Amino acid sequence: MTTTDTATTTDQNRAARPATPDKPAPPDRDAPRLMRAGALARLLRPVRTHLVVCAVLSAVGAAVGLAPYVAVAEIARAVLGAGGASAATVWTWVGIGAAGASLRLVLVFVSSRLGHYADAETLHHLRVRIVRHLGVLPLGWFRATGSGAVKKAMTDDLEEMHQLIAHSLGEMVGAASAIVVGFGYLVFVDWRMALITISVLVLMVLFFQVAMRSMPAHMARLFAAERRISTASVEYADGITVVKTFGMGGRMLERFSDAVREHSAAFKAWIDEVKYSSALDRLLASEMAVLGVVMIAGLGFVSAGSLTAADLLPFLIVGVGLPTSMVPAVHGSQGLRKGRMAAGHIESLLSREPLPEPARPRQPQGHRIEFDRVTFSYDGVTNAVSEITAVCEPGTVTAIVGPSGAGKSTLASLLPRFYDVTDGAIRIGGADVRDLASTDLLASMSLVFQDVVLLRDSVTENIRIGRPGATDEEVRAAARAARVDHVIEQLPDGYDTVLGSAGGGLSGGERQRLTIARAILAAAPIVVLDEATAALDPDNETAVQDALAELAAGKTVLVIAHRLHTIAGAEQILVLDEGRLVESGTHHELIARDGLYARMWRAQQNGDHA
Ligand code: ATP
Repeated sequence: MTTTDTATTTDQNRAARPATPDKPAPPDRDAPRLMRAGALARLLRPVRTHLVVCAVLSAVGAAVGLAPYVAVAEIARAVLGAGGASAATVWTWVGIGAAGASLRLVLVFVSSRLGHYADAETLHHLRVRIVRHLGVLPLGWFRATGSGAVKKAMTDDLEEMHQLIAHSLGEMVGAASAIVVGFGYLVFVDWRMALITISVLVLMVLFFQVAMRSMPAHMARLFAAERRISTASVEYADGITVVKTFGMGGRMLERFSDAVREHSAAFKAWIDEVKYSSALDRLLASEMAVLGVVMIAGLGFVSAGSLTAADLLPFLIVGVGLPTSMVPAVHGSQGLRKGRMAAGHIESLLSREPLPEPARPRQPQGHRIEFDRVTFSYDGVTNAVSEITAVCEPGTVTAIVGPSGAGKSTLASLLPRFYDVTDGAIRIGGADVRDLASTDLLASMSLVFQDVVLLRDSVTENIRIGRPGATDEEVRAAARAARVDHVIEQLPDGYDTVLGSAGGGLSGGERQRLTIARAILAAAPIVVLDEATAALDPDNETAVQDALAELAAGKTVLVIAHRLHTIAGAEQILVLDEGRLVESGTHHELIARDGLYARMWRAQQNGDHA
């Protein structure tokens, strides 16, 4: 490819990118800000017709479901009426009641089927969309957000959507329809009594509104406390070794108890505030309340001669049932609120900017890595790394060292495009990493991080992830090269042992060597590794170092180093401080220079000998 070709391709690729693709997505704490009104309607658009039909069927089903009650009331009115009831009238009403009850069964069945169909369709599409979207999100997003947000979207939020689509919508519409039709019938019988009956429901709704007025603020406090409880328990479980070793159990438990106390305080505050309105609401929602009001008002009208005893009966038969119709409406409205929040979360996840892919991917010419005035900021305000320029030659090891927070991990994470640089460029074999297809980019490197991820699968399959399709012999050769084969052979089922099962436990160093075996099998020409901060026992330390040497042979290697003696032999050491490259050279050159590296080296030597 000529220089002109290169420039053209690069320009086209740049043009294909969104305007501000380089900013990492803010973590999930910003999600509510990103929730947009109407998210629910947008997510439900594909099944809108099904939902409308389902709602209509629910409404009609609930309305005709009143027929048996109306029939009983009408038969009683006819029997007690002036002329008595003819057999034809009675049988007509029996027919209407029976037909209404049967039709209701059919309509509820069909509407429930439709609701569940719409639910299955929506959830299927959303799951596929979420998984596809997760596949194109920058890897840095996962680091910043953590697995909690993914789990929340895939399980909790989708569960809320299921409740809403399959249950709440139909229940709400049905309840509303039963109330409207029931009220209409009661107005037909006696409008004064109808208004008195419905006033109980109106009061019930008012008290409910009062009880729910402060709900958003209380819910926010409760959710925050729940998050703290969950974080404290995960921290406790994840760090159980450190917690116990350093006797921090008390402090960690204190954090957990604080969160639990805050949760119960938040709950108590809410309950205290709503206890009277909520108790009144429950009282009004009972048949007893309507029965009392109907009897008092009705008997008053009857004794005044403005209502017949027969006309009181519909209020006792149909009117008394109205409060129970309100219950699903109330549950449904809560389902709607939760469904809206869930839809907001899901849409906010789906609206995260994906990793921009080049329109015409380039192929790198070799695996020389160039950092060219690389600058990156997480927040758009402070640079985590600034103007870093360095070259890593194939077949050499480049160590990145520096104090905590110097920007070592950030610089290394820009190479596999966990984030895109804010300024400058990173090139592999002359091609900007943003001009490589992300699959090619990731396939060209092995990433070995401290947080070793092993799947609950056999040892063989855990190593084979490095190169799906590798033979068992290739897997074993990689394990031998990573100095972990004899450890595997000691396991109960050898290479077939399922990790995490009984007897399938491995030490930290052994787990690390297993991931190194994975990387050796992948045989990618670039290796990025985050050296373990924790010191291993001497045997494991030697084995891990040997395994890494095997992995690094002939590759372009970038090591984030914490313990300097492990990288003293590196061809190049980049010393970072506050995001800037302050020194570079070999170990001897840097010691001779007597700068930051020499100070760090002396401090670590003294520490080791202390
Ligand atoms: P350590 O040796 O402690 O791991 P480091 O040298 O690798 O530190 P980085 O983790 O790269 O340093 O951090 C560089 C700066 O960027 C620090 O100020 C850090 O607080 C900040 N930083 C790191 N990750 C994020 C993130 N996901 N969001 C915002 N700021 C971050």
